[in-house]
Amino acid sequence: MFIAMDVKQLLKNSGFRFNKQFGQNFLTDENLLAAICRDANINGGTVLEIGAGAGTLTRALSRCADKVVAFEIDRNLEQILAVTLADCPNVSLIMGDVMKYSMPQIEQLTGDDYRVVANIPYYLTGPLIMRFVEESQRVLSLTLTVQREVAERLAARPSTKEYGAITVAVQAVADVQVKRVLPRELFYPVPNVDSAVVTVDFKRDKFDIPDMKLFRKVVRAAFAMRRKTLLNCLAVGFDIDKERTAKIIAACGLQQNCRGETLDVQQFVKLCRVIKEEI
Ligand code: SAM
Repeated sequence: MFIAMDVKQLLKNSGFRFNKQFGQNFLTDENLLAAICRDANINGGTVLEIGAGAGTLTRALSRCADKVVAFEIDRNLEQILAVTLADCPNVSLIMGDVMKYSMPQIEQLTGDDYRVVANIPYYLTGPLIMRFVEESQRVLSLTLTVQREVAERLAARPSTKEYGAITVAVQAVADVQVKRVLPRELFYPVPNVDSAVVTVDFKRDKFDIPDMKLFRKVVRAAFAMRRKTLLNCLAVGFDIDKERTAKIIAACGLQQNCRGETLDVQQFVKLCRVIKEEI
């Protein structure tokens, strides 16, 4: 049977060239791979992995899931994956760019409800998370190995510099937890930044959001000009005069000079409700 320790050797022997553009920094530590599977709460069920790399996390997932659907964009990894996944019959490998697949296409491949587990490259993080937040109804959770700052941004509290539009968008429909920090030395090759494993557990009914599209617009507007007050941001974002905006802010029980970044998710929900009634 193939063991993860052989991966580095296998990559060397095959003359594989790491592609920086695809964020190729692989995980090989068996204990860490098992810990990520525990973080993701995989006990059977279906898992979608994005970016199989050399297949080390894919193998660990295949041991605790019923079915794994794994995407990998880099065709140069196909031969390597044929070796590392040879004894993983419950893995379906799709050699392609996950961003070129629509959500219905992805969910046709996964079939049931599913959990996403991925060690994803930085360039994909924001767009990928937002796709699952905004477009999927079947995803149960995301367990992502991301740049440490991104994990901290997702789990941030109001009035901190990490707190932003993506924090509110995600925390409005999910519970977020940073599970572990991963020093850069755990990756092969070693990247320039540390990473963290973050879980996003979807709870779509967490808040009673009257209009999701409007909620997203409110959040985007509130954070669009970080140094401006909420009043200014909403007046610009919704193209309404400041007098009307001031009434909306007062109806929410907020200070006229507050900034968007001081509002918690519940306050954003209330703001959304008032705007829906007033505009
Ligand atoms: N899961 C492996 C691991 O943990 O060792 C590999 C992780 S590596 C950080 C990210 C992987 O995602 C790379 O193998 C890269 O080629 C792949 N990738 C990057 N962009 C992708 C995309 N748009 N669609 C599918 N795979 C992608």
